[in-house]
Amino acid sequence: MPEIPDLEGYRAYFNRRLPGARVSRAMVTIPIVVRMPKEQFAEALAGETFGEVRRQGKYLLFPFQSGRLMVIHAMLTGRFQYCDPAAKRRARTVFLLALDNGVELRYFDQRLMGKVYLARDEGELPAAVPRWAEMGPDVMSPELTEERFLERLKKYRGQIKNVLTKEQCVAGIGNAYADELLWEAGIHPYRKRVELSDEALGALYGAVRSVMDWATAIVRERMEAEGLPDDHYRDHLRVHRKGGEGCPRCGSRISEITAGQRITNFCRKCQG
Ligand SMILES: [Zn+2]
Repeated sequence: MPEIPDLEGYRAYFNRRLPGARVSRAMVTIPIVVRMPKEQFAEALAGETFGEVRRQGKYLLFPFQSGRLMVIHAMLTGRFQYCDPAAKRRARTVFLLALDNGVELRYFDQRLMGKVYLARDEGELPAAVPRWAEMGPDVMSPELTEERFLERLKKYRGQIKNVLTKEQCVAGIGNAYADELLWEAGIHPYRKRVELSDEALGALYGAVRSVMDWATAIVRERMEAEGLPDDHYRDHLRVHRKGGEGCPRCGSRISEITAGQRITNFCRKCQG
């Protein structure tokens, strides 16, 4: 699933290319992902001019100069192509926007679990995007101070990894980076939030900011150098999907537990 560093990578990549570009033609090729009739989507976007792309939690927002917004939640397998119109279409391409700069913006989604919405303006977002209104503050928002972060987390008592990845608590943290943040802060993923001191939660806040900033810089640089990836960059991560390897901090073997579809990795020695 794209997480904050991946989405921030897209944001930076698109903001160097999209603002000012006009959509000359929009086409939906797989309607199920686009949450409105495909003709309506195509008609609404034709003639729109892109503004600055934003991110809110795990959503990418593409505002247009008219005030309208396209909102995308890429779920597990949603990816983008920004390419020559002659370039081969990826399997499961969901929509294409032909731009007046001669380039095509495409969205493809192997498992078709992503969701694409349109809102007439900012005010319509809560009505146009299900669960938008219940979403907690973006975990990287400048308004989310350490004090407010602690307040948010204290609404939930369960296992800290589940709390961190709960969008209603704070938005933007997914399974992979939750493992990274908890490793950075030295907190066991199955510890209950109620068992953690304010000091530990404060360390977690610091870890959120430092890990996301560090990873975002890596992802941005790679996207700019290599073009948009077919899969998300995960090789810079220290513990997630590194089960059995040595912990970069203490050298102990990294543990791996799979529950449901979720893999959790952590170091039993560093994360007491
Ligand atoms: Zn360790």
